[in-house]
Amino acid sequence: MLKLTNVETFYGQIQALKGIDLEVHEGKIITLLGANGAGKSTTMKTIAGLLKPKNGSIEFMGENITGLRPDQLLRKGISLVPEGRAILSSMTVLENLEMGAYQRKDKEVKEDIEDVMKRFPILKERQTQMAGTLSGGQQQMLAIARALLSKPKLILLDEPSMGLAPLIVADIFKIIKEIKEAGTTVLLVEQNAKQALKIADYGYVMETGKIIIEGSADSLLEDPRVVEAYLGRK
Ligand code: ATP
Repeated sequence: MLKLTNVETFYGQIQALKGIDLEVHEGKIITLLGANGAGKSTTMKTIAGLLKPKNGSIEFMGENITGLRPDQLLRKGISLVPEGRAILSSMTVLENLEMGAYQRKDKEVKEDIEDVMKRFPILKERQTQMAGTLSGGQQQMLAIARALLSKPKLILLDEPSMGLAPLIVADIFKIIKEIKEAGTTVLLVEQNAKQALKIADYGYVMETGKIIIEGSADSLLEDPRVVEAYLGRK
């Protein structure tokens, strides 16, 4: 579905991605792990069109999408939930959800907002409240719900559990599984490596702008290098 070949991305002179090869297969959860500064967010931003790769190519559904703008990629079915959520705090929950569907031309937006609210009952309860007054976990749910309203084929989730209490983190991981079950493919960046690998089908580990390990999620959970560096000794 998504294929990155030798992708290199720079911030000015600084090379953040040093030739990334990565594939996401339709219907799966793929997780991207690695320490702070490894280049995970840069990879997500490059896929979503917020950063343009200097070299390499990105293919989506058999089409070369290298260098397209975020709005063009959104129309093709790629939606990013950025790190830190980026919801519109001084708009209501409902207005935020409506914004998620702004580029759609079909008439089913209202029904879809109703559906999303069924999946996230707290957002229905709080629909007239300013988004900035929601708790961290509720804001993350809003950010995910808003992204789903663009009807993506592929959703990019950048550290969705960041800064949330353990019980809420469990809810977020459950929601990510449900997104896959509902037919949307997921690329997930996580610090929380163990939980990410438990729900993922396949994973990649990044270090200083490169992929250093890849494999099925089960194999990574057992890989001594992954256990040592990211899962902690038992
Ligand atoms: P984190 O989990 O901390 O976000 P990450 O793996 O997502 O880590 P990136 O944010 O992609 O890492 O950063 C990769 C590298 O690029 C780092 O060395 C970082 O310092 C650098 N970098 C990130 N953003 C910028 C920027 N706007 N300008 C210059 N360098 C940047």
